Amino acid sequence: MAKEVVIIGGGIGGIYVLRNLLAKKGEVKEGMHLTLIKREKSGWVSVCGLPYALRGWYEIDRTEINKPQFFLDQGVDFRTETEVVQISVEESMVTLDTSEVLRYDYLVIATGRKPSVPAVVGEAKLEGVYTFNNEDDARKIEAAMNAEGVKNAFVRGRGINGLQAAVAFATKGLQTTLLGGPPSLLPSCLDPDMGDMLKEWLEKQGIRFILERKLLTALKGDGGRLKSVVVGDEEIPADIAVIAVGADPNTELASNAGIDTGEYGGIVTDKGMHVQRSGCSINNVCALGDCVEVIDGVTHCSRLSQYASTVVVQAKVIADNILGEVTARPGLYASYEPCISPSVADIGGLLVGSVGVTSEAAAMAGIKTVSGKATKLTKARYFPGAKPLTLKLIFDAYTTKLIGAQMVGESTVAERVNELAVAIYAGITAKELRNMERCYDPSLSLLIDVTIDAAELALGITPVY
Ligand SMILES: Cc1cc2nc3c(=O)[nH]c(=O)nc-3n(C[C@H](O)[C@H](O)[C@H](O)COP(=O)(O)OP(=O)(O)OC[C@H]3O[C@@H](n4cnc5c(N)ncnc54)[C@H](O)[C@@H]3O)c2cc1C
Repeated sequence: MAKEVVIIGGGIGGIYVLRNLLAKKGEVKEGMHLTLIKREKSGWVSVCGLPYALRGWYEIDRTEINKPQFFLDQGVDFRTETEVVQISVEESMVTLDTSEVLRYDYLVIATGRKPSVPAVVGEAKLEGVYTFNNEDDARKIEAAMNAEGVKNAFVRGRGINGLQAAVAFATKGLQTTLLGGPPSLLPSCLDPDMGDMLKEWLEKQGIRFILERKLLTALKGDGGRLKSVVVGDEEIPADIAVIAVGADPNTELASNAGIDTGEYGGIVTDKGMHVQRSGCSINNVCALGDCVEVIDGVTHCSRLSQYASTVVVQAKVIADNILGEVTARPGLYASYEPCISPSVADIGGLLVGSVGVTSEAAAMAGIKTVSGKATKLTKARYFPGAKPLTLKLIFDAYTTKLIGAQMVGESTVAERVNELAVAIYAGITAKELRNMERCYDPSLSLLIDVTIDAAELALGITPVY
């Protein structure tokens, strides 16, 4: 009899487990029956593409990469606009909002995140106030920012989604104010000195930042529509507001089933991504994505990651393990390694990248650091289009192993994040990084790359100019 695999959630987590299993389905022939259940009516939407749709680069519709029919055609029981209301781990069953009960041999929980909304926002109940978490939110924001008479925009939150919303508003010509908190932007990825470079860049695009310890104390409306916000003792005109103060793991379903959650509210898993109950792994129930906690690759502490780049790796592990069980080939089993969250984003034309820990995260974990920061062009200065890139490298002060990297520039950021992620995984030291040969062609790179300078500065060596 075919093994029943039930996946809850049709975000990147659920869809990538499904895609991995579909890719390998040939290996098990008729041995698996796949069901995916999701609340939205869409197939697979790339939420990562939504910020750029709001900036007008393409239509939101283009982010729906696969329609539901794509999966139905491959024999998947792909259920949209459906909700799982209960999991019974004891009976290996899930109950749907239609009262239907599905039995599973393997269950995958990929229920994602839910945006946190400050009480003052919820209580105001005004039109024109949105979160920025999914396609529905993006459509509402797009309609509101294009409505006639909209002039002023407000964003609460200095993370990537808040910044991307602010950029979209400023690009549209709206007077945009962003309220964050001290000390600077993107604090989970960037040290304040690097965050300030991003801030200066965005200020030139007309975005006003309030990064003091000030509270959003009221949202005021007229006829049920937002008209202004009150920050400290200042009233700021606002026709549209995006609240992007972070997202909590969506774990209610799992918690109600007795599944363990951790310090940051995420589902706790073992290395095989199996969930746990009272610390014991349940071998036929896995979880991944924004609803789970990860172990940090540098500090070895629990935390959230909430990046697509993390989720796709977890999806592979889960699919390999299900396949290993179904085919009785333990050689296929995989384990999820500690996480270093490589990230990159184009924020108003400035590329921002990071991997590993910030100086603050290292300090909180009791790791003493040394760092080196350098700014250099990305190719020979006589080549047209050479642009500056600032790179900060963070090393463990005792071992001098690389534990974090941050950069801002106009090109070569994504590939550098990936290169430095490998260096962190490999335990490369500052001296090894400094003495490593690097490819050179003046149209593409410098003879002495910014990485060498940053490593030398961390070692207290004066770079060669
Ligand atoms: C606007 C935006 C841009 C982003 N850009 C990037 C980027 O450029 N790079 C990057 O690495 N990361 C990015 N991220 C983060 C990345 O998108 C997330 O880490 C990823 O989408 C998480 O996927 P997920 O499947 O865990 O959760 P989600 O995408 O939240 O999906 C959860 C799914 O579970 C379903 N669900 C929940 N509860 C139930 C239930 N009871 N019954 C049925 N279905 C249920 C939901 O309907 C949904 O389908 C971005 C996030 C956002 C919001």
